[in-house]
Amino acid sequence: MIFTVAIDGPAAAGKGTISRAVAARFGLAHLDTGLLYRAVGARVTAGEDPAAAARDLRPEDLARGDLRTLEAGAAASRVAALPEVRAALVDFQRRFARAGGGAVLDGRDIGTVICPEAEVKLYVTASPEIRAHRRWLETGGDPAAVLAEVRARDARDMGRADAPLRPAAEAVMIDTTDLGIDEAVARACAEIAAKLPTA
Ligand code: C5P
Repeated sequence: MIFTVAIDGPAAAGKGTISRAVAARFGLAHLDTGLLYRAVGARVTAGEDPAAAARDLRPEDLARGDLRTLEAGAAASRVAALPEVRAALVDFQRRFARAGGGAVLDGRDIGTVICPEAEVKLYVTASPEIRAHRRWLETGGDPAAVLAEVRARDARDMGRADAPLRPAAEAVMIDTTDLGIDEAVARACAEIAAKLPTA
């Protein structure tokens, strides 16, 4: 079965949680594509050339323990604006998306650029304030600085020329501002169940 679920949206909207839940529910492989950019960002912070780091990305880069910090997210969004970095990561993501067995990919450009032919496209979003609050619960620190970082990342991800963050034309919107995680997962599951090929 070739079956792709594309889940896009801004930082801390709930994409990751929804993606993991629906992948487990339907037995699909899951790729958190943000990790690829975070791993490239970490190598660039350590002094490497961005395009070279992206071309040479290895499994152990994705297993580093320091990829979930605010700083790693900011570094990721800076390297993600470079077309040569994005180009180096396209093939891996496309192969993952269309491999047999079905896959869930979450990111910023899955439904628009990586896999426009995805059978299901979801756009998961929430207000900047609630996203910053969720991030702050994980990271602590100054709440105003976390909100500023969320807004800066949104501006960079939505404003870049190459593969900017935006909903695909036919994407189903899930706004988690006032939605519990169970309800958000249930909506995503309903969309997928309606499109899954029946055996
Ligand atoms: O989703 P996550 O917060 O881990 O992504 C980190 C950064 O990587 C994003 O802010 C974005 O700039 C970049 N990214 C991207 N395209 C993707 C996934 C992530 O540009 N498909």
